[in-house]
Amino acid sequence: MSARQRHRTSDSPTAALLAWYDVHRRVLPWRAPPGEQADPYRVWLSEVMLQQTTVQAIGRYYREFLKRWPTVQALATVPLDQVLAGWAGLGYYARARNLHRAAKVVVDEFGGKFPHSYEQLKKIPGVGTYTAAAIAAIAFDLPFLAMDANAERVLARLFAVEEPLRKAKPVLRELGQQLVPHARAGDFAQALMDLGATICTPKKPACKSCPVSACCEAFRRGIQELLPVKGEKPVRPLKRGAAFVARDAGAVLLVKRPENGLLGGMLQPPLGPWTEEFPPLAEALRQAPFPAAWKKRLGVVRHGFTHFELEIEVYVVEAPPPLRGEGTWVAEGDLSTVALPTVMRKIIAHALREDAASIAPRHLPRERGRKAQASAARRR
Ligand code: SF4
Repeated sequence: MSARQRHRTSDSPTAALLAWYDVHRRVLPWRAPPGEQADPYRVWLSEVMLQQTTVQAIGRYYREFLKRWPTVQALATVPLDQVLAGWAGLGYYARARNLHRAAKVVVDEFGGKFPHSYEQLKKIPGVGTYTAAAIAAIAFDLPFLAMDANAERVLARLFAVEEPLRKAKPVLRELGQQLVPHARAGDFAQALMDLGATICTPKKPACKSCPVSACCEAFRRGIQELLPVKGEKPVRPLKRGAAFVARDAGAVLLVKRPENGLLGGMLQPPLGPWTEEFPPLAEALRQAPFPAAWKKRLGVVRHGFTHFELEIEVYVVEAPPPLRGEGTWVAEGDLSTVALPTVMRKIIAHALREDAASIAPRHLPRERGRKAQASAARRR
């Protein structure tokens, strides 16, 4: 008898999981109190914020967003720049743009109310299979499986699915869906997430305290710490470039990125293109937004994006000539209020560091060779 067949014949873990949830549920700012219906706006907002981010990381952002835009109508009417500024630091900025577009769609096409159907929810910008299932289950108690990374891990262990995660997802979804109850689907979704976050953790799961250990195939076989099987992580390429931080009377020059693409519509100090190598000095000075006595700061700024690693050398100029061309001077004290993504904040912080020495052109270190670069990339 296979593990999955054996599981189907044993007691379902659903009832045990719900009983555990009644006692141990996490208190989270977007959760409705027990017995109350969750607000779909809050559920949607939290689910979008939680994509690629942890519960701990989003708490402050979530509370601030809700304070500024307590309803989907309020979010729909605010300019995009303000939403991007509120999102700055959370990363994956396409989510903020989609959030704003989605709020408009909910207001314009659904009369300001989130639709109660999974298929209709998927018509909202940025709402994919997972988010639609999460809203349907948590806000409307519809019997959908919301399979986030925590739920995925619990299911892989519960059913001892040994295929690598990427390949196993359809199987996990099918197996997990069989456990979703018709009543309390929302509680079940959140119970699965909570179990994964607090008991069935990636390392050293606390199986002895687990409410579903009696029906967990991985636990029975003692292989829980080996699951889920993760595939090889692809090596992320390394890109390099130069940034130019101009300072004048306590303000920094910022320009807006193109609306589409990476960090679309966000602000940044002027930047050169990102290529395999840092630009040599003469080339960097050609990339600068205007001729001036640019000095390169020692060290580099590093930042990891989903698909590549970035290293930036930072050039600084104090009291530059009068500005010609595009750009806005933003007071250093106001930088926290504008739509600056984390990588750009790192660049500016590096430029503003009092102790960051600058080096004159003739002292520039030699560029590292390709071999050294490749080995440095591997170490990161
Ligand atoms: Fe996870 Fe252990 Fe519970 Fe199985 S018994 S679901 S491995 S914590």
